[in-house]
Amino acid sequence: MTVDIQITRHPYLDGKPKRMYIDGKWLEAASGKTFDSINPSTGEVLASVAEGDAEDIDRAVAAARRAFNGPWSKFKPFQRQALLLKLADLVEQYFDELAALDTLDMGAPISRTTGNKLRALGMLRYYAGQAVSIHGETIENSLPGEYVSFTLKEPVGVVGAIIPWNGPLTATIWKIGPALATGCTVVLKPAEEAPLTPLRLAELCQEAGIPPGVVNVVPGFGETAGAALASHPDVDKVAFTGSHLTGQKIVQASAGNLKRVSLELGGKSPDVVFADADLDAAVPGAGMAVFANSGQICSAGTRLFVEKTIYDEFTARVAAFSKTLRVGNSANPDTQIGPLVSAEQLDRVTGYLAIGRQEGARPLSGGERLTDGDMAKGYFVPPTVFADVNDDMRIAQEEIFGPVIAAIPFASIDEVIERANRTGFGLGSGVWTRDVTKAHQLARGIRAGSVWINCYQAMDPAVPFGGYKMSGYGRESGKQHVEEYLNVKSVWIKTA
Ligand code: ADP
Repeated sequence: MTVDIQITRHPYLDGKPKRMYIDGKWLEAASGKTFDSINPSTGEVLASVAEGDAEDIDRAVAAARRAFNGPWSKFKPFQRQALLLKLADLVEQYFDELAALDTLDMGAPISRTTGNKLRALGMLRYYAGQAVSIHGETIENSLPGEYVSFTLKEPVGVVGAIIPWNGPLTATIWKIGPALATGCTVVLKPAEEAPLTPLRLAELCQEAGIPPGVVNVVPGFGETAGAALASHPDVDKVAFTGSHLTGQKIVQASAGNLKRVSLELGGKSPDVVFADADLDAAVPGAGMAVFANSGQICSAGTRLFVEKTIYDEFTARVAAFSKTLRVGNSANPDTQIGPLVSAEQLDRVTGYLAIGRQEGARPLSGGERLTDGDMAKGYFVPPTVFADVNDDMRIAQEEIFGPVIAAIPFASIDEVIERANRTGFGLGSGVWTRDVTKAHQLARGIRAGSVWINCYQAMDPAVPFGGYKMSGYGRESGKQHVEEYLNVKSVWIKTA
């Protein structure tokens, strides 16, 4: 356990209410309403934030449309690239402040949020590269006579971006980066649990000289602001990251104008450990595949399949590893595991801890909320390993979004592939083995958007990430991501 410390002075937390950013202006909600953003390590209020709803979404979408039809449409790729590079420089300049804001607002340890620097800056600079790499094709056709046929790639238009709270800085960059690269405009709705970093990033967009209306940030709740954005008739595309249940609502809400939708949803990802693996690497690897960010990562490897011959030894070692992790206030540089994001998330995760015990699973570590000392004021759950789990238990089927491993024994390759796929989700997956044949068999056999072999959660701006099955559709990162923000137009010219 760590000693509690506070980041007492954060330059953004000046006691003033935080306004929304629409059309290059900082505005109160049309209703005048506000909500509080809470530090989950301490339960303290960090800031009061303007609470947007349908009327504010209307204003923001109108601004985004005006910008899309106006001067922004004339910006050359080099100009959009320059803006992204300028924004990257500003994020670099203020990175420590942005990381600390993520830590305070959603509870990821400061070691984790500062560790995201390479990724956050790399993403912006990658999209800056993509801004000057957009091109159609000249396509030979077989029509009689002389026709030239080619394609243009055009921005889809106004994008509604809805993000969760589990990594506000990178989630915001993941939405506005491709929009700026392609010439779209954005209305971003941050999660109600963690609106502060997206708002601070909007200040940096303004400072970078991104024209009014191109990036708008409207904080508010899902059922009001989020739903209004998802159903808005003048939004051309929704880019959503969050739970599969909300994803289903987004798809329904999008039907009115059949807007494009991309969905990055939840998971119940398998992580498969063979007896021949380098266990010294696999123990912390499989552990952190779940415990990182207190399990609040959509691709966490929460179904830990362990080959029978090493099941007892391996699960005991992961449990022992979990007990070495320092849980505490996320502002403390020594903290490895911070709190869950909210009281609601705490209830959800502790509910699953009780369900796991009722189902007959055996906790080898953790298993109860932590309330020692100041931790009682926050939302702390220790890393937990459940052994004796079978495939049908709810803790093996449902996404918990907490630091909870369900460890399941297996006997053969074919069996583990079939069981790994026995879930509605398909986001991430892991394999730990020294045998290249097994590694290939699993890489082909697992139905998921990412397979990590002898590692977990490796991410890069150039490598696509996304789901199979109920983990969603569309890809983020890589060329595929940029395509999600583009329309293809075919042009025919009769030349003779
Ligand atoms: P999580 O469990 O990660 O909070 P949610 O899917 O509930 O996942 O939330 C992700 C984002 O979706 C948040 O910004 C939230 O406000 C928003 N949201 C929630 N419900 C809706 C809805 N009905 N329509 C649009 N957005 C929503």
